[in-house]
Amino acid sequence: MDEFDPTSLLTDEATRQIQTRIQPTHGFECVNLRSALGRALYEDIPSTRDVPGHTNSAMDGYAIRGEDIPAEGTRSFNLIGTAWAGHPFPVAVSPGQCVRIMTGAPLPAATDTVVIQEQVQIEGDKILIDSENKPGQNVRQAGEDIAKNQTVLEAGRKLVPADLGLLASLGIGEVRVFRKLRVAFFSTGDELCSIGEELGPGCVYDSNRYTLFGMLQRLGAEPIDMGVIRDRKKDTHEAFEEAAKCADVILTSGGVSVGEADYVKECLDELGQITFWKVAMKPGRPLAFGRINDAWFFGLPGNPVSVMVTFYIFVQPALRKLMGETNTTPLQMQVRCESRLKKKAGRTEFQRGILRRDDANGFTVTGTGAQGSGILTSMSQANCFIILPLEAEAVEPGSMVEVLPFASIA
Ligand code: AMP
Ligand code: MG
Repeated sequence: MDEFDPTSLLTDEATRQIQTRIQPTHGFECVNLRSALGRALYEDIPSTRDVPGHTNSAMDGYAIRGEDIPAEGTRSFNLIGTAWAGHPFPVAVSPGQCVRIMTGAPLPAATDTVVIQEQVQIEGDKILIDSENKPGQNVRQAGEDIAKNQTVLEAGRKLVPADLGLLASLGIGEVRVFRKLRVAFFSTGDELCSIGEELGPGCVYDSNRYTLFGMLQRLGAEPIDMGVIRDRKKDTHEAFEEAAKCADVILTSGGVSVGEADYVKECLDELGQITFWKVAMKPGRPLAFGRINDAWFFGLPGNPVSVMVTFYIFVQPALRKLMGETNTTPLQMQVRCESRLKKKAGRTEFQRGILRRDDANGFTVTGTGAQGSGILTSMSQANCFIILPLEAEAVEPGSMVEVLPFASIA
């Protein structure tokens, strides 16, 4: 295999090592329901009541006793009143009687069946109901959505809009969620200029701090932008010490490749326990992982695409676990690839792809073209990675490939 480096680590192995070492960060916050969106629950939520709290009508119609439905033909019922949502009918219904009922109104005592209004005939104050109806129809049972004492939502669940509704339906206005994860990040490099500065010769604008900010913000972490570290040992040392005081996680980009990495490596060796890995992946071969005091450390490569790929593949699942989420395995699926993709055996490649619906109601993926690790437009256009295994070579159009969506495919 031309590209294989026997000293490098497989991506799955790097993921496994990271995931087995980290544990959810301790500490919770009590937040009101609206602020809980996107946060991970700190504890199970048991239901304190049945939802719905009372058996009620699913339709507008007439409430009757199921046993009053005629075996054949029609039967005439006496209309004795109306039940509205929020205004129950107060007395029990006797055989041969019915109550006009609106959707959501509690079923009057002794009734268990609703006949929809389109299926009755009205003759003065008599309602004619036929044998086509079934006892128990058109009724929502008390507790059919959530039963009292049932666990409604489990600890570690990242709350979605429906969950806010569920909690509201139980009358819960405040929940405990894992506290926000503070993630400090730096760029490293003498060539980096900040926006607003004049670009010197051979310099580039620092884009990694913006992509990292975006990915962290989306994830619901608290991004702490610590700026650029110049390529000097003293600066690096101070920056890492400072970050470890305030952050749960420290991310850096750049300066981990061989030849330039020495001072970063030196500092990390002095300050913490860090492993440098060469991962058998493309892009993103160099990666550092470990701890500085109480903070986790990820040293990502500097190339704009590499930093994003390594973030999505290694850092994002790790941060989700640290933030208390229990389900952190990203969605992956097999789809047909419409492009020809170049590849050499020896490294797992994360090529950028565009996943879309095809005419046959399946999904297909196309490559984004140039795949260099500096081509940030490829990440901007893409909504997924096409993961090509270590040993794979070029992909011909029409082949099945594994994709991992990282952006919205809606
Ligand atoms: P390094 O890993 O430090 O050798 O960087 C690899 C490549 O990525 C070089 O071309 C750097 O100029 C570029 N690079 C590193 N950091 C950044 C950054 N923050 N923004 C844009 N490009 C960067
Ligand atoms: Mg550099």
